[in-house]
Amino acid sequence: MTKASANKATKASPKMRRKAAVRVPKISAPAPKVGFVSLGCPKALVDSERIITQLRSQGYQIAPDYAGADVVVVNTCGFLDSAKKESLDAIGEAMAANGQVIVTGCFGVEEDRIREAHPGVLAVTGPHQYEQVIKAVHGAVPPLHDPYVDLVPPEGLRLTPRHYAYLKISEGCNHRCAFCIIPSLRGDLASRPANHVMTEAERLVKAGVKELLVISQDTSAYGLDLKYAESPWKGQPLKARFLDLCASLGELGAWVRLHYVYPYPHVDDVIPLMAEGKILPYLDIPFQHASPTILKAMRRPAAQEKTAERIRRWRDICPDLAIRSTFIVGFPGETEEDFTFLLQWLKEAKISRAGCFKYEPVEGAAANALDGAIPEELKEERWHRFMAAQKEVSAELLSAKVGREIDVLIDEVDEEGALGRSKWDAPEIDGSVFLNGETGVKPGDIIQAKVLHADDYDVWAERTTQSIQ
Ligand code: SF4
Repeated sequence: MTKASANKATKASPKMRRKAAVRVPKISAPAPKVGFVSLGCPKALVDSERIITQLRSQGYQIAPDYAGADVVVVNTCGFLDSAKKESLDAIGEAMAANGQVIVTGCFGVEEDRIREAHPGVLAVTGPHQYEQVIKAVHGAVPPLHDPYVDLVPPEGLRLTPRHYAYLKISEGCNHRCAFCIIPSLRGDLASRPANHVMTEAERLVKAGVKELLVISQDTSAYGLDLKYAESPWKGQPLKARFLDLCASLGELGAWVRLHYVYPYPHVDDVIPLMAEGKILPYLDIPFQHASPTILKAMRRPAAQEKTAERIRRWRDICPDLAIRSTFIVGFPGETEEDFTFLLQWLKEAKISRAGCFKYEPVEGAAANALDGAIPEELKEERWHRFMAAQKEVSAELLSAKVGREIDVLIDEVDEEGALGRSKWDAPEIDGSVFLNGETGVKPGDIIQAKVLHADDYDVWAERTTQSIQ
């Protein structure tokens, strides 16, 4: 993980983030209302969904604004200092507008700092402490006993649109990257049994989900802590192992997209599944750098793998493979040579999509003790050079798609046309497919379209068939 998620946090709307996307069934009696603010990465979003699902099952309603809420829960992000500041601001906003505020999430481990800034908060809990959050909500506004309120749909309540969903397969991480404090916040790797993941995935697909986004801190390490234990699924034993889980998810008939994959040798095994169309030809690998010296200083997992060569081999098997990644520039000790190595590697590896972050020290991270801090102006300069190089790679890869017929999953439709994504685009972080004038489709439809034109990050296409999946 996951500077990308820090990026996503900054993309959220400032007021009552994500609230508009929560679908809430009508209930028969007035119920206590909870406001919800969800900051941070997809993993935090899944935590929010679990808390909301539990609250709804107990008869609470989700308030659309602060004024209508009896209590507000703020699920915070504590990954970077900028994310912590955003979390403190969000708590302050909820305190000013409502006054009854419960804080949870990654930044919740810094209770003293939160209470110093906002002494009136009702409770502070850490990440995935669902029960404590629910208890704090009960303390602030007790649940209503009404037999008609238990109307939670079997797939739970989600904060993403109906047609895609994040599927968290494990928590925590066994690595200790120098710039990251996630393991101290979320602990070591703890995988969910394979049949639990599959049950949730199947429910989501039955409820209309067309795309499953597999997330965790370290997706390809899935099952290591469980010693790949088997659990029964559809009458057969299913191993808690990356390849086995990917193969089973690929049988559900939905798009399956893999995020936060480290390039351990066994990742090679899932590439044929992509070539066969069982799972999407997409790997989100947070490389963070390419220079061996910097990767070593960062203490990155799988840093010793010869990744550019491996990527070439993967593309021999699955030519359509898209690779998304995140990178950090200006890490302590990064020389001009390290940086130009990164730029060359980026072009050679043909990284389709990339986020780039200027290194920022995180309180409590081991990297803070490293010498060789890079001046801010130099970080800025490298960031611009990185983005320019990446733009060229992206534009070249997208121009090669012009004239091809592709599958498009529709995300939005209005009177001017539709907006969707190809198999090479994850929601919110990658590019889009614009279908100008296409109004005969709806979100969640999968159609075929011919790519007419491409720019640096997006493509424009027109529908080629009437059939809709
Ligand atoms: S320690 Fe490394 S691998 Fe683990 S969550 Fe942090 S950045 Fe990701």
